Amino acid sequence: QHHYHRKSSEPRIWVCVRKRPLTPAEEWRQETDVVTSSGESCVVHESRAAVDLTQYELKHRFYFDHVFGESCSNEEVYLKTAFPLVQHMLQGGSATCFAYGQTGAGKTHTMLGSGVSGAGPVRSGRSRPLLSPLSFPALAHLTVFVSFFEIYCGQLYDLLDNRKRLFAREDGQRNVHIAGLCHRRVDSVHSLLQMISRGTDERSQGSSGVNPVSSRSHALLQIQLREADQTVHGRMWFVDLAGSERASDSRDPDRRSRMEGAEINQSLLALKECIRSLDQEQGHTPFRQSKLTQVLKDSFIGDSLTCMIANISPGLSSTEHTLNTLRYADRVK
Ligand code: ADP
Ligand code: MG
Repeated sequence: QHHYHRKSSEPRIWVCVRKRPLTPAEEWRQETDVVTSSGESCVVHESRAAVDLTQYELKHRFYFDHVFGESCSNEEVYLKTAFPLVQHMLQGGSATCFAYGQTGAGKTHTMLGSGVSGAGPVRSGRSRPLLSPLSFPALAHLTVFVSFFEIYCGQLYDLLDNRKRLFAREDGQRNVHIAGLCHRRVDSVHSLLQMISRGTDERSQGSSGVNPVSSRSHALLQIQLREADQTVHGRMWFVDLAGSERASDSRDPDRRSRMEGAEINQSLLALKECIRSLDQEQGHTPFRQSKLTQVLKDSFIGDSLTCMIANISPGLSSTEHTLNTLRYADRVK
């Protein structure tokens, strides 16, 4: 048996913000960068208006555990976000890392990487998965398993098994199981990263219509450390959430978008409530309110650690979504 005791003074939830740089296309249209970041604070400059000939500026300032500026690499982000979670998992705990934000704000770039799996230089705008710097110390009798699936409109699809439909069930002990979910054993960080890039490719296969599925679905990657008898020693989730702007699609004239929007709205609200309840001594954790939170139930009970990375775009045209993201992240704390 492994018991890991965290000091009660150590936080169980931390919330970070990551600002991405302007993309080449945004630079080309001379989009204004309205976000300034420094260490623990983040300022959104909303507008400049001339009031009585004095320049008057409307600013919104937010504070977080850490704010990553546009020049931060995934490796730097890893050290302050995933690394403590990995340590916790190695000691037998469970941990979760979320990427939240508007479509195009950098969630996938942060969590899963954009099309770079091997070593070698990374061109700007491309990235390796957050977990790339991972290294497992001698795991002794432990083995590493990975699973990767997507939640779209409340339905589960296995990204490591040809998008096979999966079903989450609660057993008599109220544990949530995903029947038929593929757990692949990996024997190196390299093969783990290969699984991530395979699943990420699989994710885009389901695309139809104007919006890629990836903006309308949550992608959940789980790493389990197992004992020789297959019991789980520690586990860690990495969640690339659906685009937060989709939550307001519930007024879209298109029926399908409306349905997707309502579903996403529901799951992001439930997620916020579940994370907040982690910090409360008692109270109700509404994990049954969405498929996302139901599947992540283990993350909201017991000795779990949670890190949220709120990804934001720097451009003036994204101001409203950026403020919504920062407000959501602020309320999670
Ligand atoms: P999301 O998954 O939130 O929709 P993406 O991760 O796909 O957003 O990012 C959108 C675009 O911005 C991609 O072209 C990506 O390469 C680029 N990008 C995102 N974050 C960064 C970053 N930190 N540095 C450089 N480019 C980035
Ligand atoms: Mg994405």
